[in-house]
Amino acid sequence: MTITPLMPVYPRCDVRPVRGEGPYLYGEQGEKYLDFASGIAVNLLGHGHPHLTKAIQDQAAKLMHVSNLYGSPQGESYAQRLVDLSFADTVFFTNSGAESVECMIKVMRRYHVVEGNPHKKEIITFKNAFHGRTMATISAANQEKLHDGFEPLLPGFTYVEFDNLDAAREAISENTAGFMVEPIQGEGGIRPASKEFMQGLRKLADEHGILLGLDEVQCGVARTGTFYAYEQYGIEPDVLASAKGLGGGFPLGACLATEKAAQGMVFGTHGSTYGGNPLAMAAGEAVLDVVAKDEFLDQVKTMGERLRSGLEQMIGNHPDMFESVRGMGLMLGIRMKTDPRAFVGWLRGRGLLAVAAGDNVMRVLPPLNIGEEHVREFIDGLSKAASEYEKPEDQ
Ligand SMILES: *Cc1c(COP(=O)(O)O)cnc(C)c1O
Repeated sequence: MTITPLMPVYPRCDVRPVRGEGPYLYGEQGEKYLDFASGIAVNLLGHGHPHLTKAIQDQAAKLMHVSNLYGSPQGESYAQRLVDLSFADTVFFTNSGAESVECMIKVMRRYHVVEGNPHKKEIITFKNAFHGRTMATISAANQEKLHDGFEPLLPGFTYVEFDNLDAAREAISENTAGFMVEPIQGEGGIRPASKEFMQGLRKLADEHGILLGLDEVQCGVARTGTFYAYEQYGIEPDVLASAKGLGGGFPLGACLATEKAAQGMVFGTHGSTYGGNPLAMAAGEAVLDVVAKDEFLDQVKTMGERLRSGLEQMIGNHPDMFESVRGMGLMLGIRMKTDPRAFVGWLRGRGLLAVAAGDNVMRVLPPLNIGEEHVREFIDGLSKAASEYEKPEDQ
């Protein structure tokens, strides 16, 4: 037998972390890495954060899981906080991003059934989007590499150009249920939608009686300097998928919706065995205790500006390698002249972790509670690594 016990679907790199502390990861032999990947925008408080760790330890000892057969004081408390922090009136808890998107799709379709328009099933999604790896969420994305070998896909998705309002308008038909869009495409290469586009989608949705669903799985939860990214676009969605940073490393997702959008989600329409269990709720609450504060969000904006200007300065010294810096808050991407994977590997060898994405972009996604010194350490390391990468013979 040659297959590995871990199903070999990931081309895993040679970093093998066994311990973490703040923004640092340590490998099996004690190798130290500055982690500006954060488990792909998940570990927003870094590693081993005392408040989050203690909340999980205390709750694990008290009560981990009971199922959704019973009342949930933990879920009620945490859902209320998310409702207070957002556009939403109601929340469904999941264990991942893809499940949150699945719930969003179900909310959008059932809404129209209850409205008396059961033919409105088509969801308009955008090119280069990423919504997860389940059958519905790969069907929702137009990327061939996600589909290959998994056909038949689920019907009911129409793909149009991202950030192109005319294309979105033209795609609306009498069968359209709504739009599903990442305000900032993550896997697609840190591409923020324009304000005109997001406000235009809101207006189109209102005019046509269809729903605006946002996938904020990567850009949500304080990453861009506001609790959700939509706040910076001056709009509110009808439904939103959240996950990644929500549990700070504990698997936790949520589908947030207005009362109107969720009108079809009555007893028996949806469910999850683990979803919203007391342990997950404790992790979610502990993350909110830290991040859902103006001072914290302001600090994310400040550090985002520092990091961005440092990156912009750095790329100016290496015009043959880098093209531009883009993103919002601490969700940043450096567009490179070529595929970023080789350089991301080069950085790893020098103790710096970042993540490759589409469109030749290297993502820089640090924990949100980094300090000035970590920004400096990353920029200095990156500058040095870039010089060595360009002229390896000088080493
Ligand atoms: C990561 C991601 C998902 C999928 O989340 P999983 O937890 O891997 O299922 C969905 N949408 C976006 C925008 C993401 O970045």
